[in-house]
Amino acid sequence: MSILVTGGAGFIGSNFVLDWLAQSDEPVVNLDALTYAGNLRNLASLQGDARHVFVQGDICDRALVDRLLATHRPRAIVHFAAESHVDRSIHGPGAFMRTNIDGTFTLLEAARGFWSTLEGADKAAFRFHHVSTDEVYGSLSPAAPAFTETHPYEPNSPYSASKAASDHLVRAWHHTYGMPVVTTNCSNNYGPYHFPEKLIPLMIVNALAGKPLPVYGDGQQVRDWLYVKDHCSAIRAVLERGRLGETYNVGGWNEQANIDIVKIVCALLDELRPDPAGPYARLITYVTDRPGHDRRYAIDARKIERELGWRPAETFASGIRKTVEWYLARGDWVAEVQSGSYRDWVAQNYGGR
Ligand code: NAD
Repeated sequence: MSILVTGGAGFIGSNFVLDWLAQSDEPVVNLDALTYAGNLRNLASLQGDARHVFVQGDICDRALVDRLLATHRPRAIVHFAAESHVDRSIHGPGAFMRTNIDGTFTLLEAARGFWSTLEGADKAAFRFHHVSTDEVYGSLSPAAPAFTETHPYEPNSPYSASKAASDHLVRAWHHTYGMPVVTTNCSNNYGPYHFPEKLIPLMIVNALAGKPLPVYGDGQQVRDWLYVKDHCSAIRAVLERGRLGETYNVGGWNEQANIDIVKIVCALLDELRPDPAGPYARLITYVTDRPGHDRRYAIDARKIERELGWRPAETFASGIRKTVEWYLARGDWVAEVQSGSYRDWVAQNYGGR
């Protein structure tokens, strides 16, 4: 058997593929378009490993997805592929509608066709796992209880609206066609291989370069943060044991204001790589807030704990230390991402892709 992973060259997808193959010999077929966010360098350790089959392609390409399903006959699809950056969605929402909505629709239809050809135990075991975000629930006031799975959808950005639409498609394909789907809605991830446009890696990379650390508005926007490896273990738990048609919220029980995250990163860097010019927090620079910036997200992750026994293994203190240490050790990865030269490595090792 095998699983089909979409977006497995991105931040969470590549962590998931590495994690999966570290724990099991079940092959992964990895379909990824290699947009700016897809970096096969993350999977360099799998070079030559027959358990990882990489296919560069678009989830909107129905013929390609049909062919992959017919050829590899996976027992599950784990769907990460998306346009994922809120700021980019504000400046250019089109790609988000195409990949996140049309792409999910295409995958669901292809999966439905494939699933209908299965019989008996194979049909019963098949899963379509949709990976989504807590941002679909919208913004919480400071004292409001955290998002449960029954919280109304109130997406506020083009990104979260497109993910909300995709969640609804997945739900409808279960309700209407009986497709065996599960959905996870997770809070902000952090950890290795995070593209340095996102808050935590941006702060680390800019601080080390002596550049300003841009903080939106008053920096008091609150997010829940989860170490990426814990997200991967939650997905495995839901994929293997989650109830069909259900959604599970995944979070780290770790709400933090953005400005506090930045100060924690600065303090760790002060400890691990002190700057002779002074504490890194001197570089914090408040910038004009993002339009429509949600004030607070918080995840109530009791359902996944109650039903599946999942809890994060890392605390924020342990996870953020690992993350900062990883970026300090992997200056080569950061330099390649910043210069774009990781694409040369991909061309050499994956035949011009
Ligand atoms: P990412 O932007 O790092 O990676 C996305 C991957 O999808 C890239 O490898 C990209 O090349 C690929 N891709 C984009 N368009 C494609 C297309 N049309 N066809 C095939 N591949 C395509 O994203 P991420 O942060 O790893 O997020 C993965 C998933 O998890 C997304 O669905 C996102 O909504 C969700 N999520 C992310 C977070 C987070 O904090 N990063 C939190 C909760 C949920």
